[in-house]
Amino acid sequence: MATSTSYRKLSIAAFALETAPLQGQSPLAQLPRLADEAVQAVAERTVHFQALGSMRSDSAGAPVPWLQLKGQVEIDLVCQRCLEPVTSQVQFDREFRFVESEESALAQDEDSEEDLLVSSPQFDLLELVEDELLMALPVSPKHDKCPGDLKLSAVDADFEATSERPNPFAKLAQLKTPKS
Ligand SMILES: [Zn+2]
Repeated sequence: MATSTSYRKLSIAAFALETAPLQGQSPLAQLPRLADEAVQAVAERTVHFQALGSMRSDSAGAPVPWLQLKGQVEIDLVCQRCLEPVTSQVQFDREFRFVESEESALAQDEDSEEDLLVSSPQFDLLELVEDELLMALPVSPKHDKCPGDLKLSAVDADFEATSERPNPFAKLAQLKTPKS
């Protein structure tokens, strides 16, 4: 099994020729920009991903490396309704075409519908997984049902209890009432 370090130094040329998908995982803590987004339980979370390389022909018939990449993580974000932690399932599923250099990526990016990456003998797959998960984070994470809803009703109950406390003057009036 590949280690986290080898995910960070992937030879794209060799990987594209492998036919089996690479099943990988990494502790969330090792993806620091993503871990920063979590409000708790970083040490307990694992990022899972699956990468599949392939060679496809470009319009001129030349073989070009491609990468299909899926990733997912459970991460605790801040609920935008009640500000308590909410566990969100974040995932992505994308395809990328590799180009030889930054220059050709820039040159082709304008008229290409495809997502381009620059090929490398030491490609950082984990960094790409991290980038994609960061982009896939929900803009406004919310609980389906906020635990705060329960707190609010508890506050209401307290409030009612307070207002139901007999007022001292009523008690005084009771004392003045002759016993029957
Ligand atoms: Zn909430």
